[in-house]
Amino acid sequence: MSRLLATVCAGVLLLGAVFSAHAGAPVSTFLLRPDKVWTGDDAPAHPGWAVLVRDGVIVAAGEERTLSVPAGARRIDLPGTTLTPGLIDLHSHLFLHPYNEAAWNDQVLKEPEAYRTVLAARHARDTLMAGFTTLRDLGTEGAGYADVSIKRAIDEGLIPGPRLFIATRAIVASSSYGPAPRGFRPDIELPQGAQEVTGREEAMRAVREQAGRGADWIKLYADYRIGSEGSAQPTFTAGELQAIVEAAHLSGRPVAAHAASDKGMRMAIEAGVDSIEHGYAGSEATFRRMRDRGVAYLPTLTAVEATEQYFNHYQPGQPPTPKMQEAEQGFRRALAAGVTIGCGSDVGVFRHGDNWREPTWLVKLGMTPAQALRACTSVAAGILRQQDRIGRITPGLRADLVAFTGDPSERIEALQQPVLVMKDGVLLRQP
Ligand SMILES: [Zn+2]
Repeated sequence: MSRLLATVCAGVLLLGAVFSAHAGAPVSTFLLRPDKVWTGDDAPAHPGWAVLVRDGVIVAAGEERTLSVPAGARRIDLPGTTLTPGLIDLHSHLFLHPYNEAAWNDQVLKEPEAYRTVLAARHARDTLMAGFTTLRDLGTEGAGYADVSIKRAIDEGLIPGPRLFIATRAIVASSSYGPAPRGFRPDIELPQGAQEVTGREEAMRAVREQAGRGADWIKLYADYRIGSEGSAQPTFTAGELQAIVEAAHLSGRPVAAHAASDKGMRMAIEAGVDSIEHGYAGSEATFRRMRDRGVAYLPTLTAVEATEQYFNHYQPGQPPTPKMQEAEQGFRRALAAGVTIGCGSDVGVFRHGDNWREPTWLVKLGMTPAQALRACTSVAAGILRQQDRIGRITPGLRADLVAFTGDPSERIEALQQPVLVMKDGVLLRQP
């Protein structure tokens, strides 16, 4: 009897917790007191600043004596830390896990969607606890529209996770993606990692279907390894690309284009896409064109390092492999050309929660730590068109905040040690 009562009580408590999270608007007021506050702007971190949060919003940031702190505010001391805006990764795959655990083909063909959705929920939590409070998740890779449900569960407070901007299924040219048809006997139809289309009409229909089901961004694959020797070649015609971009933009949705080859990048840019993913073989002229047209670049350097580790015997500390060198040269050309570069790691290829590896690469290849940190905060928010909600520490923005031991704007490796994570004014991790 008492056990039954305990179970009922636990159930009621759990329901209460879920319900209050579901009801939204946290009512708590916090005063966060780190050593320094790095706001996401050009200024260096401010020593002696504190940040006041109320009802999920940043109310004030400045020297503590200048802040009017309401009675009852909860003070959180964060000695030895720097407070930054919540981090943003603009290229993730919550529905993938590292390829050395299961090959991509096996994930798509053998893992049921329900199992992948449970995994994605776990990945969302790991991401948030690592200080990444926003993701642009660029395709479920064969898990249909399950990202719409993950996003909803996070928004309703059922599971912890970052703010999500999702792409649902993504769009590929027929027979151009994976599981690659040539790897299987020709008389079986395989489920695919994205929605296949041919022709302008099917392309536009796919955009409308995905938008209608909840895509925030439209993701297309402008090239893929379809050359007879496995080289990256353009997949869509210029007309197909234009049809996708036109339908997406009419609905108010930006377009992200996977493109690794210079030709694929060039076609996507001319069609009007908003971001280029990977871009390893981009030429100087192509990156200058991106800068002039305001197309953002997400270099996904960690994905290359990870796949070279899994499939090409690369070990950290060794000289870079030819594939890594190609990616590094692409990144350096983009940096020299003045392209807007955001933090986009392709996490999922490597472990969720290890997103910090991408800004570490950005610094290793030429960005200052502050520049790399902006790529993960204010610059990323701009690419998302969310600069008025997230990405900086300034009054009026959502209270997505992280404190790290040390100062990541001076030493980027500090991103590995988050000691406080707050999203929307809800405290998820604290010392
Ligand atoms: Zn990707």
